[in-house]
Amino acid sequence: MKEQYITVLGATGSIGRSTLDVIRRNPGLRVYALTANRNWQRLLELAKACQPEVLVMADPEAAEQLTRAVQCAGLPSRITSGEQALCEVASHHSVTTVMAAIVGGAGLPPVLAAARAGKKILLANKEALVMAGPLFLKEARDHGATILPVDSEHNALFQCLPQHAVSGSGAVDWSAHGVKKLTLTASGGPFREWSRDQMKLATPEQAVAHPNWSMGAKISVDSATLMNKGLEVIEASLLFSMPQASIDVVIHPESIVHSLVHYVDGSVLAQAGRPDMRTPIAHALAWPERISSGVEPLDLVAVSRLRFQAPDLERFPCLALAFEALRKGESAPTVLNAANEVAVEAFLAGRIGFMAIPELVRKVMDAHECRPLQALADVYDIDNWARRNARDLLQAVVDSDVGSHNG
Ligand code: NAD
Ligand code: MG
Repeated sequence: MKEQYITVLGATGSIGRSTLDVIRRNPGLRVYALTANRNWQRLLELAKACQPEVLVMADPEAAEQLTRAVQCAGLPSRITSGEQALCEVASHHSVTTVMAAIVGGAGLPPVLAAARAGKKILLANKEALVMAGPLFLKEARDHGATILPVDSEHNALFQCLPQHAVSGSGAVDWSAHGVKKLTLTASGGPFREWSRDQMKLATPEQAVAHPNWSMGAKISVDSATLMNKGLEVIEASLLFSMPQASIDVVIHPESIVHSLVHYVDGSVLAQAGRPDMRTPIAHALAWPERISSGVEPLDLVAVSRLRFQAPDLERFPCLALAFEALRKGESAPTVLNAANEVAVEAFLAGRIGFMAIPELVRKVMDAHECRPLQALADVYDIDNWARRNARDLLQAVVDSDVGSHNG
């Protein structure tokens, strides 16, 4: 494997820390910059272990605290802050590889900067892709950037699709390659067997307690509503230029089979492994080679049983909303993503109930008239509109929630 000099965006998060663990195990991989939002203490601990050239805090006050702490610790790292600084470390000329692991739409500007600088982008931050859609992919294509999917399902699909087709850029005629359909697997989350009434009373603690994966709070809630799978269907459609009709979702509670590709001759190729993000991270870092990730071998006999079920769109309306957004296209996925981010934040803050998440997203989507995304300015406009609209509608959802609890 060629040497790589890496910026880890969102280093303090679940994906960021797993990435640093894989980097530590492979001497050809070195860290240029680490970034975080506000948690300077955790960033300092990570910096002590890998001595990066630059540390970026999105929050300027946290950067001041970190500067003092870095001086005390005698570390060589330079400290910067703010969105522009995030973009700079994502596009710096000495950087070969950027791990995009910021959560939410806040990750779009630096990942775009990486795309415009033609970097190898390891994409975990699915919200940025869903938000900017084809415009982000066009920037990457026009500037010779390589996007490698880190999301476990998309990484699995990437591994199971014909390699000469996925490594090219632009649209692919999949029928010419014998590819018929993609199946994304979903664990079903912590509420897989809960009724709607039970889910109405679900707390943030219950929603973030994922049975198989250890992840950040936002994606854990998305996994509990199945919005995560919805965002992933949109992500798969964009990354692999597949129409919605050729993508389906199956619930697989064991999270061992990460996704599948169906071919015209009846062959179905699946990628399997333990539910540990270090596998797709190591795959994306080393592709087209392989490196060790620290993941324990899969013991099939210990797993013994794999189950597959159809998803229930009645109990998990977020998945249906995402299918709808993908069908509508244009600005609909941008609105879906923004409204969902506001709803999840309100749920985690204890302001709305769990089932109010799809309700709020539905209201914002209904209030939106789809239009084409012609330029990135349209993306930011529509994203801002959807967030404002979601915040305005929050109170109505809170009131109807209180009403439903009382009555
Ligand atoms: P996390 O909450 O654990 O970490 C998020 C990181 O983003 C942190 O480093 C945080 O400091 C940073 N951040 C948050 N807000 C920011 C802002 N406004 N500006 C700059 N930085 C900010 O999240 P995670 O679970 O590591 O997920 C990261 C991304 O990867 C998400 O988009 C998620 O959907 C995706 N993903 C995660 C997993 C997983 O297993 N955790 C799997 C697949 C995809
Ligand atoms: Mg995933």
